[in-house]
Amino acid sequence: MITSPERSQFPALANGLVYLDSAATALKPTCVVDAVTAVYTEGEGAAHRGTFALAARATAKIEAARGKVAALLGARDERIVFCRGVTEGLNMLARGLAESLSPGDEIVVSELCHHASFVGFSLAAARVGATLRVAKVTPDGDLTVDAIAACISPRTKVVSLPHVSNVTGAVLDAGLVAELARRVNAIFVLDGAQAFPHLPVDVATLGCDAYVLGAHKAYGPSGVGVLHANAALLATLPPLHGGGHMVLEARADELRLAPAPARHEAGTPNLEGIAGFSAAIDLLVAARARGAIAREQALVGYLRERLEGLPFVRIVGRGRGRPRVALVSFEVEGCHPHDVATLLDEDGVAVRAGRMCAHPLFAAIGSRGALRASIALYNDSSDVDRLVAGLVRAHAVLHGAP
Ligand code: PMP
Repeated sequence: MITSPERSQFPALANGLVYLDSAATALKPTCVVDAVTAVYTEGEGAAHRGTFALAARATAKIEAARGKVAALLGARDERIVFCRGVTEGLNMLARGLAESLSPGDEIVVSELCHHASFVGFSLAAARVGATLRVAKVTPDGDLTVDAIAACISPRTKVVSLPHVSNVTGAVLDAGLVAELARRVNAIFVLDGAQAFPHLPVDVATLGCDAYVLGAHKAYGPSGVGVLHANAALLATLPPLHGGGHMVLEARADELRLAPAPARHEAGTPNLEGIAGFSAAIDLLVAARARGAIAREQALVGYLRERLEGLPFVRIVGRGRGRPRVALVSFEVEGCHPHDVATLLDEDGVAVRAGRMCAHPLFAAIGSRGALRASIALYNDSSDVDRLVAGLVRAHAVLHGAP
C-alpha cells in the first residue's frame, strides 16, 4: 500500500475522484487557494510600480517567489524570468534565438518534443530560413542520445529537448546532450514542464543554457511559468514583448533595455498567479522533505507493473533500464483511447486520451493515440487499483462482453 500524506490538502479529491491527469494539469492544494485568495481579499498594488505600502508588498511577494524558484533550481535570482507558462517561455527562446540565425543554420528538436517546443521552433526556423532537424525515436517511442548526436552538426545553433517526455515519462540524459551541444557552441534548451514537479532539478548539473518550467503542473495556478537562462543568454536574447518595466529609458531616439530579469518581463505581472506558485513551492519543498520523490517513484513503478500485467495493454516507450517518472502512456488493444477514457470517467477515474500535443511521436510509432495515467503528490496505490479495475471493465464493454 502506498499512501499519500499530502492527499488531504487537495479539496478536489474530497468526493473520491481518482485524478490521474496531473501531467496535463495538477490539482491545487488549500495553501495555493488561500495564497491566491489573499491577493484579492487583502488588496495589492501593482508590483514594481507603486510607491505605497500595498504595492511594495506586491513587489516583495514576487521577489520572494523568484528567490524560492531560484533556490529550488540551484540558480541565482536574477536568472529567473516569470512568464505565462512553458509554451510562452519556449516561444520566447524560439523567437529570440531565431533572430540571430541565418538560412542554413540548424535547430535540433526531436519526435519526442511537446508541440510547445516542436511547433515553436518550427515556426521560428521557417521565419528565418533555418533548417529544423528532428531526432528520431525508436519504434518503441524512446529517444537515444545517438539519435540526437546524429542530428548535431557544425551548423547546429540550438538544441531543444524535453527533460522528461510528456508521453513516455523518460528522463533525458541531459549531461551527455549538453556536452554534444557545447562541442558545436549550440544553445541547449530543456523543456522542464514534466520534470520540475517530480524530480530535483539543478540547472548547473544539467548543463543546459535555458530551462523552462510551469506552475500549473506543479500544484500552482495556470498562467505562470519560468524561463531560467544563463546570464549571457538573458542579456542578449531579444525580448518577446516590449512594454512597461523592461526599459531603463524609452525615447524616440533611444531605447535602453533594463537588465534581466526585468528585460523579459514587460507588463504588469500576474501577482495572484505568482503568489499561488510561491505557496505551491512551499508545499513541494515540504513534501520532498517527507520523501515525496521516492514515494512517487514507487507509485509509478506500481502503475507500470499493474499495466504490464494486463494482456490487452501495450505501453508506449518500453525500452528497459531507462529512468522514467510520473506517468505511463498505453494503448488498449482494439479500442479507441477516447472510448476507454469516457468509460473510465464513468467510474470516476480521470486520465488523458489522445495524441497529447506530441503528434510527431504518434506518427513515428504508427499510433492514432494513447491513454496516459500520470501521478502526483496526492495519489495513492488505491488510485492505480481503481484505474486497473476500470480498464478491465472498459475493455470488456468495448469488446461486447455482456
Ligand atoms: N512541454 C511539455 C513537455 C508539456 O507536457 C506541456 C504541457 N502539456 C507543455 C510543454 C506546455 O506547458 P504550458 O501548459 O505551461 O504552456
